[in-house]
Amino acid sequence: MKYPVSIISASGYGAEIILAALRELLAPLGGMAAFVRPGQRVLIKPNMLSARPPEKAVTTHPEVVRGIIRLVQECGGVPWVGDSPGVGSTLSVAAKCGILDVVRDTGAALAHFRESVPFPHDIGRFPRLEIAREALEADVIINLPKLKTHQMMGGTGAIKNLFGVVVGLRKVNLHLQAGSDKALFARLLLDLARHVAPALTVVDAVMAMEGNGPGSGTPVAVGALLGGCNPLAVDTAAFAMLGLRPDAVWTQKIAREEGCPGSFLDDLELFGPPLESLRPPSFRPAREGDIGFGIPSFLRRGLNKSLSALPEVDMGRCLLCGICQRHCPVEAISVHAGFLEIDKRLCIGCFCCQELCPEGAIEARQGILLRLYERFTKQRSKS
Ligand code: SF4
Ligand code: SF4
Repeated sequence: MKYPVSIISASGYGAEIILAALRELLAPLGGMAAFVRPGQRVLIKPNMLSARPPEKAVTTHPEVVRGIIRLVQECGGVPWVGDSPGVGSTLSVAAKCGILDVVRDTGAALAHFRESVPFPHDIGRFPRLEIAREALEADVIINLPKLKTHQMMGGTGAIKNLFGVVVGLRKVNLHLQAGSDKALFARLLLDLARHVAPALTVVDAVMAMEGNGPGSGTPVAVGALLGGCNPLAVDTAAFAMLGLRPDAVWTQKIAREEGCPGSFLDDLELFGPPLESLRPPSFRPAREGDIGFGIPSFLRRGLNKSLSALPEVDMGRCLLCGICQRHCPVEAISVHAGFLEIDKRLCIGCFCCQELCPEGAIEARQGILLRLYERFTKQRSKS
């Protein structure tokens, strides 16, 4: 079986440009009517990581949200827009990133994701899983991620965006359960996406993010929207479009190892321009965060610092706001008068601090062996 993924180029975020592009994007998938029937309650799940303006490319652009709301309304669906931000309330983040205005203009509703309810599942690794009530009760979920680099996982798109159905600090708790095991965390994300099962995913890559993502990277023009029913297949196309190696994005790497359908380009039926034609001239990946393979654990223990990346704070930018401290799952961060300290012995490398820092004050500092490894793989890919 092949998984259809539709791709379209879009020159900017003008409302009419995006609406026309979305219609064209969804045509090979049967249009919005293939997903939404009259009267259905439709949860639209953009990336609303934190309160940043649209031009920072941290959140899904409001015009993409507007276009999807309009198409849902045309089909008689009842649209709700919601996410559980990393920092701040759904309302405050929606206001800053422009989504609240769109919700009000269109007569849609904001889903605040305040209540967390047990989620029936068979994910043995994480038995106690709860998600937002609105996600559980929706008739249809439309997943609306932003395409970005991600310091912990390599990249974030369709699969990682669905982690936002876990409410507030419960996300921190799941990070804590996964510890420093990125493969385990990737499996959780894949399992969660399979159970949440959005009917449709549309990736906003008109402006994507490179470098120090997902909260503090650099916006980069890609000019593309991607859509499909299988979120993993959509990610496979999106990361290939950027030219990221599949083993550089943990959800892709683990999905391939486990033979998940949609994790290889050969599994896809692509509609639209060739992926390479939309690749930006250069794209800076997230810093390599870990060498997670082939190294015996007894050796790894001694070399752990040299083999992985850990967060480092730039005190020139840090405002000592304490957000990172409050969200660190292992309480490795302490704020003192005039400086901030990260206890590297406690740190599990989840990079929640880097993801949520509003000042971009936290970067990944690679250990010496990891730096050498990255240099080697870069040279090898050039030759
Ligand atoms: S590193 Fe960022 S989040 Fe942490 S205290 Fe400084 S400014 Fe706040
Ligand atoms: S210091 Fe940062 S990277 Fe380390 S565990 Fe805490 S939040 Fe995660």
